Amino acid sequence: MYTIKSFCLYCGKLVRGRSDKKFCDDYCRNSHNNQKRSVDSWEVRNVLSILKTNQKILATVLRDGQEYAKVSFLKLCEMGYNFKYHTHTDLGSHNLTYEFCFEKGIYRIDQDWVIVVRDLGESYLKEFSKKLVREYPSSNNQNYA
Ligand SMILES: [Zn+2]
Repeated sequence: MYTIKSFCLYCGKLVRGRSDKKFCDDYCRNSHNNQKRSVDSWEVRNVLSILKTNQKILATVLRDGQEYAKVSFLKLCEMGYNFKYHTHTDLGSHNLTYEFCFEKGIYRIDQDWVIVVRDLGESYLKEFSKKLVREYPSSNNQNYA
């Protein structure tokens, strides 16, 4: 009878018994699954911690009572803002794309300046974009994202 040898995905030893078995026993299967789970959650934890840091920074920049805040790109970098990560994006008018970290987000009006804004919905962002383009005409010239 032709049998395919298989090796345990956890300990690497030859698996005895049915050829479709992937593990020696329950111990190896459970250990393998736990290891996989902890790798996944480390990645998730890492991204979550970046997003939370971004969220904290935005909360520092855009305070209660302010509609929006203008902050330099460099300042955000110095504070540790990670521009690679955001939770969602939304499109305002004039094709302005906002990148949010939970309830607050950013729009880069040019190379040096960033606008921090609240996520108050699509219709709000459409109105806000009109104002932004009026106040900072350079803001829809180029996409810096
Ligand atoms: Zn094993």
